[in-house]
Amino acid sequence: MAYLSVLDAARRALRGTLLLPEDQGFDDARRPWNLAIEQRPAGVAVPADLGDLRTLVRAARDAGVTIAVQPTGHGASGDLSGAVIVRMDAFDDLEVDLEAGTVRVGSGVRWGAVVEALDGTGWVAPAGTSPVVSVAGYTLCGGHSWFSRTAGLGSDNLRAVWMLRSDGEHERVDDDSDPDLMWALRGAGGVMGIVTALEIDLVAAPAVWGAELTFGAGDAAAVMRAVRDLAVDAPSSLNVFMNSMRMPDVPQLPEEIRGRSFFTVQALSTNGPAELLVSALVRAGTVQREVSGPTSPRLISESSGEPTDPTPGRGASAALSSLDDDMIDGLMRFREQPEQWPIMGIDIRMLGGALERPRRAGFATLRGVEWLLHALVPVFPGVPSEPGGASIAGFSDVVARAAAPHTVPTFLVPGQTLERCGQTASIDRLRRVRTITDPEALFHEGRLPR
Ligand SMILES: Cc1cc2nc3c(=O)[nH]c(=O)nc-3n(C[C@H](O)[C@H](O)[C@H](O)COP(=O)(O)OP(=O)(O)OC[C@H]3O[C@@H](n4cnc5c(N)ncnc54)[C@H](O)[C@@H]3O)c2cc1C
Repeated sequence: MAYLSVLDAARRALRGTLLLPEDQGFDDARRPWNLAIEQRPAGVAVPADLGDLRTLVRAARDAGVTIAVQPTGHGASGDLSGAVIVRMDAFDDLEVDLEAGTVRVGSGVRWGAVVEALDGTGWVAPAGTSPVVSVAGYTLCGGHSWFSRTAGLGSDNLRAVWMLRSDGEHERVDDDSDPDLMWALRGAGGVMGIVTALEIDLVAAPAVWGAELTFGAGDAAAVMRAVRDLAVDAPSSLNVFMNSMRMPDVPQLPEEIRGRSFFTVQALSTNGPAELLVSALVRAGTVQREVSGPTSPRLISESSGEPTDPTPGRGASAALSSLDDDMIDGLMRFREQPEQWPIMGIDIRMLGGALERPRRAGFATLRGVEWLLHALVPVFPGVPSEPGGASIAGFSDVVARAAAPHTVPTFLVPGQTLERCGQTASIDRLRRVRTITDPEALFHEGRLPR
C-alpha cells in the first residue's frame, strides 16, 4: 500500500517513533486504555518534539491519511481505521503559577501529576476522578470534575492552548486571538489541530472538606431523595457524587465483596464542613460507614478505587433534567432485578452551581442539566458480553424519560457523536471553525457526526 511507504520514509526523519502494522510491538502500541475497544490505525507515533509533530503532519498529508491525537485512549471509540494515532507522552512540562492561579501543562501530562503538584497549596485543579486521564483529552472534551459545581467544566477553565495547525503553524491561542477556535476547543476534542500545551485556571480551595457515607442498598431511594431535595439550595462550594454499587457474583472478584450491594454518597466542599447534608443523610438511612473531615484531591484520588492500569469497560451515560420520585423508584426497581447484574456501579453526580454560569464560552456545556449518570459494565474475561449489552439498553430506557437535551462530550460512549452535546447550530459552527483551521481535513473527524 502506497501510504505505508510514505510513512515508512517519514519515520527516518523522526527523533521519536512511528510503528506501522508489520512492526514488532504494533499490536501493543495500537491498544487504547479502554481495552474493550478494538482500533486498527495506519500507524502509532510517539513524537519527541514539535519538529516530529510537523514531520508527521506533512507525512500524513503526503500519505493521504488522517492524524488522530490519542494520549491514552480513555475516550477511545474504535473508529480510527486508516488514521495515524499520535501519543503525546513527550510533551510533559508542568508549570504551576500560584500567583496567577494557573497551571500550564504539556498535552502528555495526566491529572495525577497536577494533583500531586498542587497538594498543600490551597489550590485544586478542575480534574476528573481518574488520575491517569490526560489533562488535554479531558479538558478539550469538556470534563466534569470533583469541583464542577464550584468551578464549572474543565473546559470552562481553559484559558489558552498552544496548537499546531495543519499548515505547520504553532501558536498560542486564547479568547483574544481567536474566540471561535477557543469556543470549539472547549469541548470538540482534537478535530481542529494538535494541542501541545494548555493553560488552565486553578480553583481556590483553602479548606477542602470531604465526607463519604455508606448505606445499605435498601436505603438508596430515601438517601437519593434527601440529596435531590438538598440540591435545590445547595451552595456552589458543595459537590456531591452518589454511587449505587452491586458487585457482580463472578469468580474473578474476591469472595468478601462478590455479590454485595451498597450505596455511597461522597461530598466535597471547598468551604468547610457540609453539616446540613450529613444530617439530612443520617436522617434518611442507616449509615454503615462514615469518613469525614479535612481532605485533599490527592487523598480522594488515592482512595477513589479508580483503575489506573488499562482496563476493558463498557457503559452508558445519561444527563438528566430532573430526578423526580418516579425516576428514583424506577432506577431502584431496575437495580434490584437480578438480570441487571452486569451493571456494577451507577454514578450519579449533582450538577448546577458554577455549571449554570460558565465563565467562558465553549461548545461543551452542562447548563440546564441537573444530574449526570454513568452506568459501568466491567468486562471480565470469559464472561459473555450479551447480558451487559441488555443491561446497558435497559438502563438507557429507564432514564430516557428525563433525558436532558445535551450532555458533556467526556461522557459520550463509543458510537455516540457530538450531536448529543449541542444543537445543530453548534455543530454547524464547529464545522465552520474546522474548515478554517484544517481545510484539508487532515485531523481525524473524531466525534463529529458523519
Ligand atoms: C476510568 C475513567 C474515569 C473517568 N472519569 C471522568 C470524570 O470524572 N469526568 C469526566 O468528564 N470524564 C471522565 N472520564 C472520561 C474521560 O475524561 C474522557 O474519555 C477523556 O476524553 C479522556 O481523555 P484521554 O486523553 O485520557 O483519552 P483519549 O481517548 O486519548 O483522548 C480523548 C480525545 O481528546 C482529544 N485530544 C486529546 N489530546 C489532544 C491533543 N493534544 N490535541 C488535540 N486533541 C486531543 C482527541 O480528540 C481524543 O480523541 C473518565 C474515563 C475513564 C475511563
